[in-house]
Amino acid sequence: MNVVIIGAQWGDEGKGKIVDYLAEDAKYVVRYSGGPNAGHTIVVDGKQFALHQVPSGILYKDKTVFLGSGMVIDPEALFDELKMLKDNGIDWEGRVFISDRAQLILPKYRTMDKERDAQRKRPIGTTGRGMGIAYAEKAHRDGVRLADLDWAEKMAEFDGEDLEYINRYKDQLLSMRVDLVAKMHEFKKDNILFEGAQGAMLDIDSGTYPYVSSGTSCAAGACTGSGIGPHEIDRILGVFKAYQTRVGNGPMPTEFNEADESESELCRYVRDTGREYGVTTGRARRCGYLDLVALRYACRFNSMDGLVLTHLDIYDTMDQIEACVAYEIDGKIVTDFPSNVDMLNKAKPVLEKFDGWKTSLKEIKKYSKLPKNARKYIEFIEAFTETPVSIVSVGYERNETFIRKNPWK
Ligand code: GDP
Repeated sequence: MNVVIIGAQWGDEGKGKIVDYLAEDAKYVVRYSGGPNAGHTIVVDGKQFALHQVPSGILYKDKTVFLGSGMVIDPEALFDELKMLKDNGIDWEGRVFISDRAQLILPKYRTMDKERDAQRKRPIGTTGRGMGIAYAEKAHRDGVRLADLDWAEKMAEFDGEDLEYINRYKDQLLSMRVDLVAKMHEFKKDNILFEGAQGAMLDIDSGTYPYVSSGTSCAAGACTGSGIGPHEIDRILGVFKAYQTRVGNGPMPTEFNEADESESELCRYVRDTGREYGVTTGRARRCGYLDLVALRYACRFNSMDGLVLTHLDIYDTMDQIEACVAYEIDGKIVTDFPSNVDMLNKAKPVLEKFDGWKTSLKEIKKYSKLPKNARKYIEFIEAFTETPVSIVSVGYERNETFIRKNPWK
């Protein structure tokens, strides 16, 4: 059985925790897009792991993980991450493999990435790790894949720092290479979890272009980025937070207005309680009301079978919760997510109010035990998005999670 997990917002939804949680029932975990700028945080027994390129299933001793063809891989950062795992008692050797069709990030891409963003009239706010350049070089047909490392004619095109860098990591990388199409076929009868990076709203085609990542972070990327066809996908789950966050530039219609006193206070509360600071960059994330217009759009273009609601506990002390159900743009009410950035920048959220539950959700292990007002909030989301909430997360620990509908069954 194959289950795909994606972020349903602009990333940082808590995918790492959910992949780690669902990986228990999987034999293999495949990360299919993105590169070192993704940051997934997993907390197990009070110990926190920040993963960037290694799939989140690695923390289980019996899982084998794959870095997929849709990824752009920074070898230096990857081996640092693997060393960090080993130093923390996670024995990964023989359990981490890389698709020979995955692209590599070369040292010069990082400089090019920063320079290009600085030259832009409207900077995207990239993390400057060379991912965008690696994807652009791939599209230009000038990229370098793992499979190219022992193609002499191709290697003869490199010199200086890039060649030295490639030679430094070549043997280690080649020792981890696999043909992922062949592997996926071989493992057809096993449970495979496909892990997306970033979020659906940052997808290169359906996200808020040009303020997007350069990869295919929507569910369809699980096919193109690993080596299986769409018929092979059994379930697609989208992870979303009970509120909204975004990192970097780009439209975010429900962003709290920090010039307004009460919204600024709410922003500070959500940011601090939800620990909304980037894992990779430490940057404070932009925060806002849950955007149901955007979430419904993401459910539609990803054929989501179910949603995973995280960070519901952040609202535990609030009297009232608000979520956006439409946008007001130039005096008109809009209910479909616009593709035009100008319209998104002008959009004012139309908010629906919900009563809070004023109690801690941390110990709750069953949907029926949630306070009535928390259930009302969830049921509203389900009706609005026409998608069931299959899993609820009420804290950052692995066990602060409960399943309503198990995607593996
Ligand atoms: P990812 O990139 O989607 O994996 O998300 P991040 O790891 O960047 O951010 C998620 C953060 O939220 C991490 O610090 C998690 O430990 C934490 N987290 C995940 N689920 C929950 C939850 O339900 N409640 C709270 N309070 N924190 C959560």
